Amino acid sequence: MAEATNFIEQIVEEDLAAGRVTAIQTRFPPEPNGYLHIGHAKAMYVDFGTAEKYGGKCNLFFDDTNPSKEKTEYVDAIRADIRWMGYTWAKEVYASDFFDTIYQYAEKLIAEGKAFVCDLSAEEIKNTRGTLTEPGQESPYRNRTPEENLRLFREMKAGKYADGEKCLRAKIDMSSPNVNLRDPVIYRIVHAEHHRTGNKWCIYPMYDYAHPICDYLQGVTHSLCTLEFEDHRPLYDWVGITLGFSPKPRQIEFARLNLTNLVMSKRYLKKLVEEGSVHGWDDPRMPTLTGLRARGIPAEAIKDFCERAGVAKAQSECEIGYFEAVIRDYLNSHAPRAMAVVDPLKLTIANYEGGEDVDFEINQTQEGAGTRKVKFGKTLFIERADFSLAPPPKYYRLKPGGYVRLKNAYIVRADEAVTDEAGNVIEVKCTYFPESRSGSDTSGIKAKGVLHWVNAETCVDATLKQYDHLLRDADYSGQDFSERINLDSEHVFSAKAEPYLAENEGSYQLMRTGYYRAFRQNGQLILSEIVSLKDNFNK
Ligand code: ATP
Ligand code: MG
Repeated sequence: MAEATNFIEQIVEEDLAAGRVTAIQTRFPPEPNGYLHIGHAKAMYVDFGTAEKYGGKCNLFFDDTNPSKEKTEYVDAIRADIRWMGYTWAKEVYASDFFDTIYQYAEKLIAEGKAFVCDLSAEEIKNTRGTLTEPGQESPYRNRTPEENLRLFREMKAGKYADGEKCLRAKIDMSSPNVNLRDPVIYRIVHAEHHRTGNKWCIYPMYDYAHPICDYLQGVTHSLCTLEFEDHRPLYDWVGITLGFSPKPRQIEFARLNLTNLVMSKRYLKKLVEEGSVHGWDDPRMPTLTGLRARGIPAEAIKDFCERAGVAKAQSECEIGYFEAVIRDYLNSHAPRAMAVVDPLKLTIANYEGGEDVDFEINQTQEGAGTRKVKFGKTLFIERADFSLAPPPKYYRLKPGGYVRLKNAYIVRADEAVTDEAGNVIEVKCTYFPESRSGSDTSGIKAKGVLHWVNAETCVDATLKQYDHLLRDADYSGQDFSERINLDSEHVFSAKAEPYLAENEGSYQLMRTGYYRAFRQNGQLILSEIVSLKDNFNK
């Protein structure tokens, strides 16, 4: 058997070894009320990953018990995101598939005197729930007979009452130390169209009641969820035990993934989209999976991150820098290299004529990745910041009379800087040394600096985008998200790029610039930052 690497796997192994279960069944249970985010990637890693590891199955379970917030658009997006992450679900199941059975179970509870129809308003129920130190008060409707309850519940179902006028509550214990067991509401009236069942229902089961039933009906053995449900487990168990489920699914909670500088709540992400603070759910700054995909972050790197972050019971916050370091690591070994210049300065080689192809290393970290041809030429662009008329000490880039190597090509010497009327350098005139070609350098010239460049004749114009985190730093933590949001987090530049980038969409390391996703939009080459080259985390 596979080796357990976390406490959930340990429990699963014990359950298998003790014969409590023979095959593992889990489910990934999103509510279709928004797009999945990186936190959900962790839930998928746990739900799908645990099942896969022990030869079991994982269902895709849509928790659609909240008709007013759920949409088919979200269902489709969630499916696409899970597929993109590389997971395959056994069955696609909806809470609404089980609405009839869930309803039957409620009638059963009523018949057994374990549920009652309550006329208190939501407000009154809240106010009579008690506190952590004080018990709650019993509802005046608590002792209705099963017959009366059944009649009222059926009337609720038939649409006789308005939203909030009545509800069904489990009859458990108003003095339980666990507030969730104080006669929790298990059905409420909502006159809203459901994205799948239309107007068939005007009463909907509450999550805490529906979830254990849906788990059981799907044959779920291990119901894995996040820590905020720990206090709900006694209710989860109450439902299972009271309804006589055998074998009863087992709920296990793990810590949510929290990342600094990122908002991880569908509700808030939705607000950003609706208020136009970002371009959409797939804005590259968004922590949604569709946003991360648009950013150019590979699914594999996200999985790798989830694995390294680990599955634990203790709540913690992960540094965004760690996430970025994992992405950088992945791209360093996977992304081909290419060249683009953001703030171009013309460089002319006086003694060079014609254009030859030089060999450009695709990825020096990959054995056998090989080279591709890049056209060298007489007129090139380099970064403006790579030339200085008055360089500081230890400046290894280009300066008057100085030498540098042009990446994968030749060593050049700067002979003259052409300036405009304002004194700005607009061109650097150089001499190149034919015997200094990369790979066969016999020139004996020392050049410490290596500059990237593009060929001025063949290069294409590109729009280069860089991003800051959407959420300001930890210094701002404790403040409301809306105060922490960094609206000025997208920076757009024009750049010159090798034509190769326009012809080969994908993720690249732009030499000395960062990791970028290259793609075309309306005929224009876009270079969109994935992650910078700088590693602030391991420093
Ligand atoms: P949100 O608060 O963003 O809406 P949610 O918990 O309401 O998240 P669901 O659609 O109910 O979202 O979640 C589906 C599954 O993903 C649940 O099991 C939930 O516990 C899990 N999940 C959600 N956010 C995280 C997170 N940050 N880390 C780990 N698991 C998460
Ligand atoms: Mg939820």
